[in-house]
Amino acid sequence: MEIRISDNVGFCYGVNRAFNNTIKLNDKKNIYMYGQLVHNNSVIEKITNTGIKIFENIDNLPENSYKSTVIIRAHGITSKEREILEKNFKQVIDMTCPIVTNLIKLSKGIQEKGYYIVVYGKESHPEMRGLKGNLSEDKILITKEPLKLQNKSKVCIISQTTVDYPSFKKFYLKMLEINQFSDIIIKNTICRETYMREQQALEISQWADKVFVIGGKNSSNTTKLYKISKMNCKNSYHIESIEEIKEVVINKEDKIGILTGASTPLWQLENIKKHIEGNIS
Ligand code: SF4
Repeated sequence: MEIRISDNVGFCYGVNRAFNNTIKLNDKKNIYMYGQLVHNNSVIEKITNTGIKIFENIDNLPENSYKSTVIIRAHGITSKEREILEKNFKQVIDMTCPIVTNLIKLSKGIQEKGYYIVVYGKESHPEMRGLKGNLSEDKILITKEPLKLQNKSKVCIISQTTVDYPSFKKFYLKMLEINQFSDIIIKNTICRETYMREQQALEISQWADKVFVIGGKNSSNTTKLYKISKMNCKNSYHIESIEEIKEVVINKEDKIGILTGASTPLWQLENIKKHIEGNIS
């Protein structure tokens, strides 16, 4: 059996920053995360095991908020949510990934120049909700489907940081085909980290007999890697734990590929790799 692991595994820059800065905070009993800091259950479990708590609903703040600290997740939040947190908590620690913060700043600046923003992304994703909630909401559209826009001639097309480039390109080319813009800006705002993982996913899935893509089922970039892998290797598995691959037979002739999402910790990768190596038929 041969195992090939992607060159880009473990936490990306933004997740690493958020996780490490959270873990080293003192007085964990008085700290809350507003929503999942990152999209990985084992990471969230590790954080909550230290005493840090989590709340999901901005309309239902913890009772002791005024004497507690709250952490803003790596995907960012809306300006309205930030205002509520700042008003109700003793301290707010912002762990928004700087790349997401830059995307918000860039979009705001372009909107202020009179452009209507079209984002290729998933509207319900926290990063997209955060982006929309920091901009003029009537001058932004988040969609995965190319649409004919009414009365919009000055337009800027950007992307969610975790989408794949070929799909983004297909999207903006279609937008240009079905619309008549007098002024158009197209900016590829895909995070480089996710782009590199995508390239590795392509290469490894073309080589392997079986590919294990490790990461949260709610992680957009892990799901993207899985889709890329599945196109080339039908025995691709998107997994979060060993339990999910107990039934998969590993043969000694197999070429095994391993990929991880940007919020997948190395300890999860190591556990799964050990399981694969110890269960060869
Ligand atoms: S994938 Fe990129 S944008 Fe998202 S948290 Fe990681 S470094 Fe930041």
